[in-house]
Amino acid sequence: MRIGAIAIAGCISASAMGQNSKHVNPFTAKPIASPPPVASLTDGVWLKGELHMHSRHSKESSNNSIAKIIAFCKSARIDYLAITDHDNHVDGDVAHNTWTDPEFKSDSVLLLYAAEWTTTRGHGNAFSAKPYDHQQLYDVRDQRDTVVGRIKNKLGIHLSANHPSGKDHFGYSYDMVNSIEVWNSAIWSKNANAVMIWDDMLSSGRKLTGRGGSDAHHGVPVGDEKAGPNTYQAKANYAGTPTTWVFAKKRTVQAVIDALTNGRVSISSNPYAPRVEFYADLNGDDKMDAMMGDNVKATGKAVKFSVKLTGSSIKDTTYTVNVVKNGNPFNTYKMNGKTPVIDFTDTPALTGRTYYRVTVEGPSTPYPQVPQSAALSGNMVGLSNPICFNFDPNF
Ligand SMILES: [Zn+2]
Ligand SMILES: [Zn+2]
Repeated sequence: MRIGAIAIAGCISASAMGQNSKHVNPFTAKPIASPPPVASLTDGVWLKGELHMHSRHSKESSNNSIAKIIAFCKSARIDYLAITDHDNHVDGDVAHNTWTDPEFKSDSVLLLYAAEWTTTRGHGNAFSAKPYDHQQLYDVRDQRDTVVGRIKNKLGIHLSANHPSGKDHFGYSYDMVNSIEVWNSAIWSKNANAVMIWDDMLSSGRKLTGRGGSDAHHGVPVGDEKAGPNTYQAKANYAGTPTTWVFAKKRTVQAVIDALTNGRVSISSNPYAPRVEFYADLNGDDKMDAMMGDNVKATGKAVKFSVKLTGSSIKDTTYTVNVVKNGNPFNTYKMNGKTPVIDFTDTPALTGRTYYRVTVEGPSTPYPQVPQSAALSGNMVGLSNPICFNFDPNF
């Protein structure tokens, strides 16, 4: 963009350009066409799930059969699961390993077709409601992003950037992804830079969904299985640490992925922790008109926002709600555990993009099946996706 601007201005210096009143940036935000209408806020179902988990088909996992993972998810009432084995461990052929494992079936847990795209330039998760030709995504991994993006679009998958600031960070263009892992593993504190990258992407108009994923590799040994050097991790980080909630139209895998793509998503420290919900009343009638993940046109009038915790909030305690506006701290509110709701008001700019998202801190919720996880997530209860104003739906 800068190169183009300099060319238009005839190679004059940047400081001189600042005084050139004739210069018009062709990309300056213009009023956008009305975004599509907001989907129903009530016609749907909240489903909780795990989006990053390794089974025995990943070589460095231990004691983690698919049957064991699914049985665990059932016990923790986890509704959907993505087993994301490393594709490079099977030369890209996840279709004949993870997906054809006789244990890859469940009568209650919704199973996504998924894999961790494990490349020299980092890791991403691919999600699909139906089998797709993952081999093509594996084969294209070292090509230019324009080529990779074409294959990704052809396959019709949801692509998600994994652990974006850590080891094996996602080293591809974020223009190719639908979501970003902003909470990897039970250890909340190591995710600060991932959240920073998310804010940068949102602030630049990329409406990416923030999601969680435990990235757990190790199960608790049963029967003849032997404990290994990493077995201790199973009690600290496993399915549901953290838990990604989606507001899905129906209880189907496709509806889970659609909700994930649309951003009607929040993340909680574990399946028993309260769920963060974030809504906006756009016209002052005290009825909520939009929720996290939605994108609406700013009217220039004040908007009333509402944050609430649903589920097992602790009555005699105080939660702290931090509101982030356009990547910057906006305000902090205290919320009583007995009636865990707060409202605040602000006026999004009439032109240009604005977004708001929230994090909620407070006491951790025990997760008996993964007893050491609560100490690792600390006081982070959950976080919302953004409510967006004036984001270009055709960006
Ligand atoms: Zn990874
Ligand atoms: Zn992983």
